[in-house]
Parts: sequence; structure tokens; C-alpha cells
Amino acid sequence: MTNETTPAPNFIRNQVREEIEGGQVTSIVTRFPPEPNGFLHIGHAKSICLNFGLAEQMGGDCHLRFDDTNPAKEEQAYIDAIKEDVSWLGFEWAGPVRFASDYFDQLYAWAQHLIREGKAYVDDLSPDEIREYRGTLTEPGTPSPYRERNAEENLDLLARMRDGEFGESEKVLRAKIDMASPNINLRDPILYRIRHATHHQTGDKWKIYPSYDFAHGQSDAIEGVTHSICTLEFEDHRPLYEWFLDNLPVPCKPRQIEFSRLNLNYTLTSKRKLKLLVDKGIVDGWDDPRMPTVSGMRRRGYTPASIRKFCDMIGVTRADGGLVDIAMLTHAIRSDLEDSAPRSMCVLKPLKVVLTNVPEGHEEVYEVLGHPARDDMPVRRVPFTRELYIDRDDFMEEPPKKFFRLAPGREVRLRNSYVIRCDDVIKDESGEITALHCSVDFDTLGKNPEGRKVKGVIHWVSAVHGVPLEVRLYDNLFLEEQPDKDKDADFLEHLNPESLNVCQAIGEPSLAHATPESRFQFERVGYFCADRHASTPEHLVFNRTVGLKDTWAKIKQKG
Ligand code: ATP
Ligand code: MG
Repeated sequence: MTNETTPAPNFIRNQVREEIEGGQVTSIVTRFPPEPNGFLHIGHAKSICLNFGLAEQMGGDCHLRFDDTNPAKEEQAYIDAIKEDVSWLGFEWAGPVRFASDYFDQLYAWAQHLIREGKAYVDDLSPDEIREYRGTLTEPGTPSPYRERNAEENLDLLARMRDGEFGESEKVLRAKIDMASPNINLRDPILYRIRHATHHQTGDKWKIYPSYDFAHGQSDAIEGVTHSICTLEFEDHRPLYEWFLDNLPVPCKPRQIEFSRLNLNYTLTSKRKLKLLVDKGIVDGWDDPRMPTVSGMRRRGYTPASIRKFCDMIGVTRADGGLVDIAMLTHAIRSDLEDSAPRSMCVLKPLKVVLTNVPEGHEEVYEVLGHPARDDMPVRRVPFTRELYIDRDDFMEEPPKKFFRLAPGREVRLRNSYVIRCDDVIKDESGEITALHCSVDFDTLGKNPEGRKVKGVIHWVSAVHGVPLEVRLYDNLFLEEQPDKDKDADFLEHLNPESLNVCQAIGEPSLAHATPESRFQFERVGYFCADRHASTPEHLVFNRTVGLKDTWAKIKQKG
């Protein structure tokens, strides 16, 4: 954990710095290797900030390489979205966008090399038999009866697999390592599977596809990657990663370093589960503002800087299983928008106020700072008229003692304007409050006359000049801190039914020109962003990015 002034621990950065200072490495190459089977989420953002950040800070290159070895689950649309997200986060990959599939010819040649060396064989066991023969954590595996095939036969079978002569689960190519290894990953791992699928990059050229393990380290080596950074679940794969590099004529030997993945409370960081939310129509696509995807956070109003800052704050360690508080993420965006978002007034639940001592047609316009601490932002022109809207929540007919807003007979200040007093509550036949009749104390513009204590200040919008806005109030998608904690239960049971509430709000006139993705602080309410898809000048739509209350800042103060 950290605060803004002391950087969080990042053991990989420290290690790389030592290597550079000690002369073991001159320049580094890292890579970010997403599989294009979904959109990127906040966990990927951590990996992106780490890999691209290292290259930036240490003077090196970071590649963007799609790990596209499973054509059945991958799509061009995901590739496009991932590229857009990485760029939006503010990073630039070195050289072209790369694909593991660029190396399929080389990988095939290396598979042939292993066969010739007696280190790989074609196995005819079925997937179930392979699993049975593999053994368990406590029992060694059993060698396949096909393990001793000669090189010539293996080369021939592999070529025929490639050309589509066999069905999908008839044969695989396996490395011949050690069926009794205590590390199950070394018990003759699969190098190639038959897949009769069309690949988004290579079309119908291949009927076999390399496994993740066979493709990953070698792709790193081909690209001259120095530090291959991945999450802790790959720690047990490292001996295999190194076995390939030791047993193949690769141009260089990258080093795999693992770190712990990001888990965020009230959130899922698994593409598979996020895809389910999309496929079931529970959310409005991968970039629904409630999704923890990079594009969802973007639509919600997060800035690239806030996501990068959050990734800095959480640091990089090998401590597994920790859950990061989402309040830390909202703190990062809040503190960014606090400085950068222009202010404005918007009433989410409008309640009409008639100022009975203001003449019909009367109008005054206040020039108000765009931001209280910045004079570079345009001044807003805020019109004041006889009829206004205030928020329903700022009025109570029978207020408790500590309610400092409007109530019958009580006074409150209209932000940037006069003190008003509530004289009358107007109701319809059903008893519903439809309007308040209030009177203005004209002696109170910009000052409190002597002896008068008016504690409450509320926001308001002129009923004549206000602009209608659709405002979407988002909350966490899940009610449980760890929605997928119980592996046997359905995480969908923990969905928050109140994760989206829509209101028809009224905003001050300066909001009429809000362009998609522009961000504002609605004073006293929160930070909002004009929806990048839905908001038009005719129909303004704002998403609530985050409220004003910063629980993380409080936790930090106490801690
Ligand atoms: P998911 O489980 O969501 O499908 P993945 O690990 O399968 O994620 P990849 O596309 O393979 O997704 O991930 C690309 C890179 O991002 C990998 O290096 C992976 O380790 C890293 N990554 C994925 N999830 C996280 C996370 N929660 N925290 C940190 N890094 C992550
Ligand atoms: Mg993966």
C-alpha cells in the first residue's frame, strides 16, 4: 500500500534497474501478450502499465503481441479493441503489431527439430487417455504406448496432421520430457493440437495450432524479449519455458518473471466471466460503463492518467491472493478529476421552486469560475430566473435537527446567488409535492448580512434556461466483495439489481455544448462524463463516473 508521495513497491523495476546498473543488460525488451478472446480489463491494465512502463522508464522497447493460438475463441473485433485500449491508455508499442501466428512456420520447424532430436512424438491417445496417463500430484504418469515412435514416422504424421488428414482429437504432438516429473507441466506436454478452424490471421493454412507453452517462450525469443513478465499462475510453467529455450536453436534466452495478478473487490477480472455478462445481455456490451474493462472505464469517464496512477499505487509484488479495494481506483479518478473537471450545476431529481418576489421575466446572469482553483478554464454564465429547479433531496417537509437544507419556514443559500426562504409547499390531490413557493432576500447576494447564519448551500438550475439531460447513475455490478469466490456457485447470483439507475435531470445551460467524453463535476453530486456513444446535442446523456465521497482518502488518513 502507498500514498501519492512514496511509490509503491515494484520488485521487477528494482531488479531491472540493478541489472542495468550492474551491466548485465544494456537495453530491455518487454511485451504485452493478450489473447484476442475478449476485451482488456483492469487486470490487463496492470500488466500493460508494468510492461510498457518498464520500457519507458528503463529505455527499451515494449511489443504488443497477440497470443493467437486458439482460433476458435478469437476474433478480429477483439484485436481492434485491444489496440485501441492500449493506445488510449497512452502507450506506444515498438514496431508493428505482432502475432504469435507470424511465427507458425518457425515453430513448426522447431517442432520438427525436436522430433529429429528424439524429443517429441506424435501421440494417438485420446484427450481422456492423455489425462489418465498423466498421473496426479502424488503419482507419476505412465508413458504413452506411442512414445517410442521413430523420427521418420513422427515427421510424416506431423505433416499429415498439419494438412488436415486427421480428426481433431485423433492425434497430438507432445514433447518427450519426463512422465515422472514432480512438475506435471513437464510430463510430456502437448505442443500441437489439430483444429479444423479458420484462423483470423492465417486463414486455412494450418490444421494444427501450437499450445500456449510451445508458442510463448519461442515467440519471446524470436522477438529478442529480455524480460518475459507474466502472472504467478505461470510459475510452474517456467521450467518448461526454459526447457524449450535450452533444447531449441533459439536466437536468445528471455527470462520469465512472475508477479501477482490484480484482484479487485466487487469486480471480476476474468475475460471468460465478463464475456458471459455480455453474452447474456446483463450488461450493454463489453464497454458498458459498469464493466471493469478498459473500454468500460473509458465510457464511464475514467481518464488514462487515473488508471495509470492506480496501477502505480498498487505496485508489483509476488504476494498472492490479495484483494485490492475498489475505493483505491475511485480515489485515483476522483483526485484526477478534482483538478481537471470543470464545475457545473445539475439537478438530478428536479423539484420546481417559484420565487414569488421575483418578477415574471426577470433575469440576472452570474459569471462563475469554471473551476475554483483554475483561471484558465472558461467562465460559466449562470442565469437566475423566477422559476428554478432544486433537487428533491434538498427539501424536507419535516426535517430532522441536523438538516441544513430547505424546509418550510427555513432559509438556504442558492449556490452563487441569494438566500431564499421556503414559504409554501404546493401539493397535488394525491399529496405529492409539486412545487415550493419561496422568497428571495435581495440583500444576500455574495454575503450573509450581519447576525444571519445560513448554513446550507444548495445547487439549482433556472427552469427557463436549464437543459434536459439523461443521467445514468452506475454502481458496482456485484454486491459481494468476491463474486466468484465460491467456485461451485453461480457468480450471477451476486449481481447488484441497483447497478444502474437512470434519471431525467436538468443541467445548467453551459452543459448544452458538452461533447462526447467531456467530463464535469456536477457540484455537490459527483463527476460525470458525456457518453461517448449515446450523447448528442439533441439528447445529452451523462454517465456518473464516481461520487464525491472519497472513502480511500479517509482510510489513508486513519492508517
Ligand atoms: P483472463 O483470465 O481474464 O482471460 P488471461 O491471463 O487469460 O486473462 P491474456 O490475454 O492471456 O488474459 O493476458 C495478457 C496478459 O495480461 C498476460 O501477461 C496476463 O498475465 C496479464 N493479466 C491478465 N489478467 C491479469 C490480472 N488480473 N492482473 C495482472 N495481469 C493480468
Ligand atoms: Mg491467458
